[in-house]
Amino acid sequence: MSVNKKYRAREYLKESITMIRESNDILFRYPSSEHTNGRHTAYMARTSSGDVLVVDDVAQPLDRQAAQFLRTEFPFTAPVPVLGRDCTIGLGDRLGLAAPGHIAAIRNYQATPVLVQQSMRELNLTGRTWQDILDVGTFMTFREGYTDGFGADGDHLKQATDIGRVLSLGYTMVTLDCSEHIACDDGGDRVSSDVAGRYLGRAFGLDNGQNITLDRAQLARAVNIYGKALDFVADIWRMFWVNGAATADFELSIDETTQPTTPEQHFFIASELALRGVRMATLAPRFCGEFQKAVDYVGDIAQFEHEVDTHAAIARRFGYKLSVHSGSDKFCIFPLVSRYTRGRYHLKTAGTSWLEAMRLIARLQPQLYRQAHAWAVKHVQEARTYYYVSLDMARVPDLADLSDRDLPGLFDLDDARQLIHITYGVMLKNPTLRQALYRAWYDMDAQDNRPYADALSAHIGRHLEALGVLRKDEEKALK
Ligand SMILES: [Zn+2]
Repeated sequence: MSVNKKYRAREYLKESITMIRESNDILFRYPSSEHTNGRHTAYMARTSSGDVLVVDDVAQPLDRQAAQFLRTEFPFTAPVPVLGRDCTIGLGDRLGLAAPGHIAAIRNYQATPVLVQQSMRELNLTGRTWQDILDVGTFMTFREGYTDGFGADGDHLKQATDIGRVLSLGYTMVTLDCSEHIACDDGGDRVSSDVAGRYLGRAFGLDNGQNITLDRAQLARAVNIYGKALDFVADIWRMFWVNGAATADFELSIDETTQPTTPEQHFFIASELALRGVRMATLAPRFCGEFQKAVDYVGDIAQFEHEVDTHAAIARRFGYKLSVHSGSDKFCIFPLVSRYTRGRYHLKTAGTSWLEAMRLIARLQPQLYRQAHAWAVKHVQEARTYYYVSLDMARVPDLADLSDRDLPGLFDLDDARQLIHITYGVMLKNPTLRQALYRAWYDMDAQDNRPYADALSAHIGRHLEALGVLRKDEEKALK
């Protein structure tokens, strides 16, 4: 099934934006969007035919040129590398509508957002482009007057061509997914004498008082599983960061595998990559337990606590931060992440903003919600090929049994949440449904009533509170 190209770009504002020569039909100005830099005065406004950028009294559509103009003239609308900051949060926005709510949530906290973050999988399923996503980040930071800096992450990239593409567009973070190079342990022993000499019989101290040691069997297993992946990572690093002199933050993701990363394997990976000159800003291990989309952590919390303590200390020893993927809604482990990383971590969320958008449809447009839900049910098998979830369709209520008033309550049920979470692609590939949903979100966003931004701000705010992120006016407590 191919994405209908007609709906590819700029739906976040209107299905089609007509050229506006005069600004006399402005319905309202976005209140925080007026900026001046000495050369130009600009603001964003809604007109009867769509949202526009008004520069020196001339209205123009929100297109690629307008975004480039803003990034040049108002540099706070361009992404910057942010992973060096203590608490950073990836806030993926599959619809291109979520940034105002994300910004409202985070602007009062001592945390920095990665507002532009999309994986290859999401890009294919939503039919958007790297450029579209970056431009939305620019327009939304300008519109909301958010000047504290944000990152742009090409998430879960597996191919050199994609990395080259996002870097050339100005993305400031690359998440390299080397899962295709992670092998199964075949039980063989390929430990060279060099590698043996580096690890066997040695103990490596961590700042939390623990020691890491690897015996021959552990070392052989680490080489078998990660050996090829390490070569791949080093090749990519050399290609773009050494030869290409890239300045983007580099995240290594080894989380999308079935086998958890043991602390000993984490140490081996970190140590071998450091030896090859690779400088990671963050690393995302595959933690023990399950990090399923849209639901809380499933697993042994005591074991997670023990391991996150060790993983965090290994990351500190090698000078990078831990990154926690599929991080939305993992409320029961948030305090542990923040405690053991000492407040220095990266947490990624993505689909939760889509769920909040659909919860709003369930509340405000029940008939449309019923259509979307029925489509999701019909196409759930296709969606399941993209995401691993424990979803049991027998536990998703039949909508025929629910009144309109009950519909938002679906978003408090794990199975219904997972159903809607994974079916964004099949919904957005249906042009009629896509257009109706975007129309609904666009129309509900008025000058003094922004239900989506409010809902998302409250939802992400709960994440920040559970993580214990300090508010901007709070002092860090003395340890
Ligand atoms: Zn991941």
